Amino acid sequence: MWAINIRNLLNEQLDGPAAPQLRFKVKKLTELISYITALESDLIVGDPPLCWLRPGRKPCKTELHLSWIDDDRIYWKCPKCGFEGTLEGWQDLIWDLSVSGNHTVH
Ligand SMILES: [Zn+2]
Repeated sequence: MWAINIRNLLNEQLDGPAAPQLRFKVKKLTELISYITALESDLIVGDPPLCWLRPGRKPCKTELHLSWIDDDRIYWKCPKCGFEGTLEGWQDLIWDLSVSGNHTVH
């Protein structure tokens, strides 16, 4: 299982990946942040983010199940291939759409 602190993958400005090869991973992880924080804030959200693993080299592309652990860690699991992980460090980033936080305007 992945256990990720998103801040370890971000640049100093905390608005993008720390290195070009992290771009895809950061994009997928920030999609999770935006989705679940928007959902919690009763904002209108689209479909859940899709699983980005490629088991057997075929894109899984199954809607991920998202929930919370300890109220501040995001937990995701793919119901098809079993890909799962936790994500922390998302608070107050530009992808955090929760209404409670203190947000920087960009
Ligand atoms: Zn999957």
